[in-house]
Amino acid sequence: MARLVMKFGGSSVADIDPIRNVARHVKREVDAGNEVAVVVSAMAGVTNTLVDFCRAAAPLYDPREYDAVVASGEQVTSGLLAITLQAMGIAARSWQGWQLPVETSDAHGAARILAINAEELIRCLADREVAVIAGFQGIHRETRRIATLGRGGSDTSAVAIAAAIRADRCDIYTDVDGVYTTDPRVVPKARRLDKIAFEEMLEMASLGAKVMQVRSIELGMVHNVHIFVRSSFDRPEDIDPHLAPPGTLICDESEIMEQEVVTGIAFSKDEAQISVRSVEDKPGVAAAIFGPLAEANVNVDMIVQNVSADGRTTDLTFTVTAADFARATDTIAKAQAEIGYARLDTANEVSKISVIGVGMRSHAGVAARAFRALADRGINIRAITTSEIKFSLLIDAAFTELAVRTLHSLYGLDKV
Ligand code: ADP
Ligand code: ASP
Ligand code: MG
Repeated sequence: MARLVMKFGGSSVADIDPIRNVARHVKREVDAGNEVAVVVSAMAGVTNTLVDFCRAAAPLYDPREYDAVVASGEQVTSGLLAITLQAMGIAARSWQGWQLPVETSDAHGAARILAINAEELIRCLADREVAVIAGFQGIHRETRRIATLGRGGSDTSAVAIAAAIRADRCDIYTDVDGVYTTDPRVVPKARRLDKIAFEEMLEMASLGAKVMQVRSIELGMVHNVHIFVRSSFDRPEDIDPHLAPPGTLICDESEIMEQEVVTGIAFSKDEAQISVRSVEDKPGVAAAIFGPLAEANVNVDMIVQNVSADGRTTDLTFTVTAADFARATDTIAKAQAEIGYARLDTANEVSKISVIGVGMRSHAGVAARAFRALADRGINIRAITTSEIKFSLLIDAAFTELAVRTLHSLYGLDKV
C-alpha cells in the first residue's frame, strides 16, 4: 500500500468524459489498495476565460477579487470529480483550498504556500475516502481571503500536498507522457526523458518549459518529493500494474546514472530587449537604471554591458518579460535625467533559447558549439548569459523554431 497524490491538469478534466477517464485512473489506484489524494485543475480554457472576464470588468482590478473569480474553476472540477467517483461506488469528497486549509502569503495572483494543515486529510485518507482537492488555491493566513498561486499553480498544490501528507509519490498526469528534451509540440523529434534532475527541471521550467510550474519543483527539491510526470490519456484498463508506466521521474541528481552533457532545451517567446545607449561610463549608472526598475516591480533577466571604447560612454542592454515591457520602458524614460543617456532602443520580437544540463559543469566548449551552429544558419545572437548548468541566447523571435531544432540536433537529443 502506498499514499499517493494524483494531479490532473486542465486538458485531462476538459469535459465529463475525460473526468470519467480520470475517475477510472483514480479507481485503479484505489483498487490497488492505495490511499489517494487527487489535485485537479480547472477545465481547459476556463481559467483563461475567467482572467479575461476580470480584465474586461476593469483593467486595474483588485487582485483579491481576481483571486475570488479565478479560483472558481478548480472548485467546479473538484466537485465534478467527487460526484463521478461516488457514482462509481468510490467514497470521495471535494476540498477547497480554504477548507484544508492551504495557507498562503498575501501576494494575490501569485501567492506562495506557507503551510498546509493535513491532519484531517490524513484521517480521511486512512478511512479510505478519496480527497479531491481544488488545485491553484489557498487562503491568506491573516485576512482569510482566497488567494491563487499563479498560472500553472495546481502543480505546486500537488507537490505541497504530497509533502504535507508525506506521500510516497506525486504523479502529475498531463497531456504529454513525460518531460521531453524540448517541447514535443514544437520539435516532433523531441525525446522523452526517463529521469531529470530537480535542478535541470527547475531551469527548464523557469526558462519556458511550462510542463511544470517552477515553484512546484522548488518545493519538490526541498522536501524530496518523488514527482512522476505521465499521461492522463492512457486508458486505465490498458495499464499493466506490474509494468512501470511510461513517464519521467523528477529526482535527485545522484539517482541518475548516465548524465548527458545537455539534457534539454527550453525557450520563451515572451521576451523584450531594451538597450540604453551612450550612458556615461562611471560608477552608479547601473544602480540608476536598475534601482527604479526594481521599485516598479520589473523583473530584469539578462544584462549585458559593453566595455567602453573611449572611456566615456557605453551601452547597457537588458531583457524583461513581454508583460513588463511597457512598464520598463516607461520607468527608464522617466529616469532619463538621473541616468543620463542618449536614446533607448527596444525590440519585443525576441526570444530566449536556453540549453540545460548538469553535465555542463564538467564539460568545456558546450556553448561555443551552439554559437557556430547558429551562425551557420545565419541566426544572429543579441545577448548571451551563462551559469553553471545552462546558457541562454537571445535571438530574433522569427528564428525560434529553427534555433531550437538546430541545437536539439547539435547536442544529439533527436529521437532515433
Ligand atoms: P496541464 O494542463 O496538464 O497542467 P500544461 O499545458 O500546463 O498541462 O503542460 C503540458 C504542456 O507543456 C505540454 O502539452 C507541452 O506542450 C508543454 N511542454 C513544454 N515544454 C515541455 C517539455 N520539455 N516536455 C513536455 N512538455 C512540454
Ligand atoms: N487553472 C490554473 C491555470 O490555468 C492552474 C493550473 O492549471 O495549474 O493556470
Ligand atoms: Mg500546467
